[in-house]
Amino acid sequence: MQYRAFQTPDDVNLTEMVKKAVEILKRGPNGFVLFVEGAKIDHGHHYGNAYTAIDETIELEEVVQHVMDNTDESETLIVVSSDHSHTFGINGYPERGLDMFGPSSFLAGGMQKGGPPPKLPYPIMQYANGPGGTEDWAEFEAKRARLADMSETAEWRDPHYKQIAGIYLPKETHGGEDVGIFARGPGAHLLRGSLEENVIHHVINYALCQGDFATVCDKK
Ligand SMILES: [Zn+2]
Repeated sequence: MQYRAFQTPDDVNLTEMVKKAVEILKRGPNGFVLFVEGAKIDHGHHYGNAYTAIDETIELEEVVQHVMDNTDESETLIVVSSDHSHTFGINGYPERGLDMFGPSSFLAGGMQKGGPPPKLPYPIMQYANGPGGTEDWAEFEAKRARLADMSETAEWRDPHYKQIAGIYLPKETHGGEDVGIFARGPGAHLLRGSLEENVIHHVINYALCQGDFATVCDKK
């Protein structure tokens, strides 16, 4: 599949697939499991491009909203999570109202008291590693300097632009921190605090009255 940013009207997209899947699966009398992956979020990050990664995340949000609007909260468990993070980061202290895809202010306010002020602006969004980095220091500085000149729509939001990365790698890597789990419906109250990922599997089984929970559920 293409990124949503590159799709033509003839391309199949995630929203259409999920709408059709829910429509068909709802006809079954015994419930259903539907697994949906917004996989291009991951691809956008690997290629060091925040625009496509965020645009695909917005599409996933729209898909989740559609499923919420077309299922009954009293009988359908919806779980939204991720199997890993990325090295994508947001640098703090940008002024209110700035474009998140662009640079923070040149001098970053009062943060300069601890050392000499930076000569170059810093990006609000960046990667710790990936193809937006370089092993050539002059090239790295030139890319930072360019942040001050770029018009926001011309480059920052270009689906091919590679955000600055601290360490050059041909593809950005996954990250290692915890990810969120968001849920609604039967069993959603069990998904709270810090959990191992495999707990999600057991909560789904619980909601479906199957597996270890086949005999303990109250199947009405
Ligand atoms: Zn990946």
